[in-house]
Amino acid sequence: MIVADLLVTGIAEAATLARGPIPRTRASAGELTRVPNAAVAVRDGRFAWIGPERRASRSVRLRPGGARVDAAEGTLVPGLVDAHSHVLFAGDRAFELELKARGMTYPEIARRGGGILSTVRATRRASPERLLEETTVRLRAMALAGSTSVEVKTGYSLTPRGEVELLRLIPRLAQRTGLRLVPTFLGAHAIPPEAHGNGDAYVDRLIRQALPVIARERLARFVDVFCEPGFFSVRTSERLLRAAMSLGLGVKVHADEFVRSGGARLAARLGARSAEHLLAANTDDMVALARAGVTAVLLPITAFASTASRRSPARELVDAGVPVALGTDCSPNSWVESMPLAIALAVHGGRLSPAEALTAATVNAAHAVGLEDAGRVEVGRPADFAIFPVPDADHLGYRFDVRPNVVFRQGKPVSSRTLRQ
Ligand code: ZN
Repeated sequence: MIVADLLVTGIAEAATLARGPIPRTRASAGELTRVPNAAVAVRDGRFAWIGPERRASRSVRLRPGGARVDAAEGTLVPGLVDAHSHVLFAGDRAFELELKARGMTYPEIARRGGGILSTVRATRRASPERLLEETTVRLRAMALAGSTSVEVKTGYSLTPRGEVELLRLIPRLAQRTGLRLVPTFLGAHAIPPEAHGNGDAYVDRLIRQALPVIARERLARFVDVFCEPGFFSVRTSERLLRAAMSLGLGVKVHADEFVRSGGARLAARLGARSAEHLLAANTDDMVALARAGVTAVLLPITAFASTASRRSPARELVDAGVPVALGTDCSPNSWVESMPLAIALAVHGGRLSPAEALTAATVNAAHAVGLEDAGRVEVGRPADFAIFPVPDADHLGYRFDVRPNVVFRQGKPVSSRTLRQ
């Protein structure tokens, strides 16, 4: 008999994602392992029992003072994992929307002094306390939408020291919000204005002045680079990522978002953890990613927000055998905290099945950010889960932006009250 701290009953369907390979590809990408009429028990912040509710009374006893939650015939899924965010920034770029609406592209807006460099100015000016406050609000919104783990990239300071200081804020954000945050160093997000277009010289400084500190103090899990014409070339990106790998850091690539320029092939050549965006990747790139076992992190909201004619090639990547993961890409360019919206757009725009999209937002997203014990409802794993007011897990992809009734992180309820500082 299991003595539980928390017992959840009244679950119409639990999508546990407990069985199958990690990451999930091809047919296994749609395997959710559904338990109808389920109950879930939690002990010491971890899942202790999952099964049909009718068997719960024989297997689980609630300890005196333990909590009972009625899922009200909703659907329980693993806490969502946002595998790609630029949530750590100051200010906003609402003024750009009119330019976008008139058909201006992101590189054109950037050349006019807008885009990323205006966020860099705002972030450099902001005090650490201000940055913590503004980012905490966004992370709380992510948690209330069902995310329990979030990858957080730096990239709006663009000096070796400033970028390291941004990394130092991430554990403080995790403490404030109770979320599991994965820090990624994206010092090479853009060439800083004072480098006058010399990306190579700036990357040299990142390699000499930032990477050793990051590795020594374990400030980041991954190093990422914006590999795109006008930002960092394939050669320069490779130099930075190889330096990161030699220090034991994982690597990721912002690849082939605007044009096909070799980012996906670079990720495959290096055996990177992930290649991200991939809007312009072709079939050869997909085959290379599949062979190298690189996870594709797709950002269908960005595809929608920046160029409506583009869609994330989610269907093509799954069919090519590439593990697909999802993120919000929350940034001042596409400000969104909702993983359920990313799931819906991966279905409606990216042509994934609802089950494939949920896999991409849980177990595959966890793999993409190196959290091998997240994204699944399985005995012994951290009890991170969300209960949505829908009859089964397919409704997450079917409906747009459905919101959970409750979210739990390590067996504790996440709410606007518990998230308050
Ligand atoms: Zn990004």
